[in-house]
Amino acid sequence: MKIGIDIGGSHIATGLVDKDGKLIGKEVRDISSANIKSEKDAKELILNIIYDEIEKLLKKYDYEISDISKIGIAAPGSPTETAITNIVNLKIQKFEIGKILEEKYDAKVKIKNDGKCAGLAEKEYGVLKKYDDCVFLCIGTGVGSAVFFDGELLEPKHNPGFELGHMIIDINGKECNCGNKGCFETYASMKRFKKDVINTFKLKENITSEEVQKYIRDNIKEKNVAKFIDNYIENLAIGISNIIKIFEPEAICFGGSFSYYADIFLPRLNEKLKHYVFNKETKYELVCAKLQNDAGIIGSANL
Ligand SMILES: [Zn+2]
Repeated sequence: MKIGIDIGGSHIATGLVDKDGKLIGKEVRDISSANIKSEKDAKELILNIIYDEIEKLLKKYDYEISDISKIGIAAPGSPTETAITNIVNLKIQKFEIGKILEEKYDAKVKIKNDGKCAGLAEKEYGVLKKYDDCVFLCIGTGVGSAVFFDGELLEPKHNPGFELGHMIIDINGKECNCGNKGCFETYASMKRFKKDVINTFKLKENITSEEVQKYIRDNIKEKNVAKFIDNYIENLAIGISNIIKIFEPEAICFGGSFSYYADIFLPRLNEKLKHYVFNKETKYELVCAKLQNDAGIIGSANL
């Protein structure tokens, strides 16, 4: 049995995964309102959550620590083989978590960028299984991505690469966390989408993502909401068309909270893309992620 841990800016999800890559069970902890004052706080918090959740899961599904054959971690940014790095929301600069977990559980620990882990899970067990050349985009807080060519994940020697969320689509655009302006994710991420919905339609600041979705769905026929969505899709189409021009994928898979809007976004995106793709005969499918929030756990456990 393997453990997959998905460390995000707002949640830590821990899961048990069987040898066939199936999720046995998981625990998710919200850390968005945790009181993290220093890197030391964050390290303690992460370890305590992981220890707790693994213990809970082993007990619940009747396993022993010695049953753990491998531990995988999906983390944002550019983690090394042994450490998670630069998680701004958690004040983490570098945390050598691999060795600590290896010693505690006497199991091999592997760490990889979360977008790549989720993409690998979709490629191996999800909706991308039948495609050789494909792109996975996890559109949530930011935009994570993984690119497959001839069935294999493309992996550069240095850094995870394929930071499609940070390709610049407007040199004078909105400021991005990375320090540049006009990155694709400043237009496409669901975090920005929510923020823009709140500002444009003067909704209350503490509205939940579910309420935002309800607002959009209830008012989609209103002219101003339709125009807002059209504008979002326009920017999305510019970024996606660039991805199509570069990789000519057979399919692009959308994961993250974006997929809650798939029925609204994907048909509109399909229409818009026709204007922007270079090769008008190019054939691609826009598909929705199957494993959703479990993709990071499954992908990391199977590294
Ligand atoms: Zn950026």
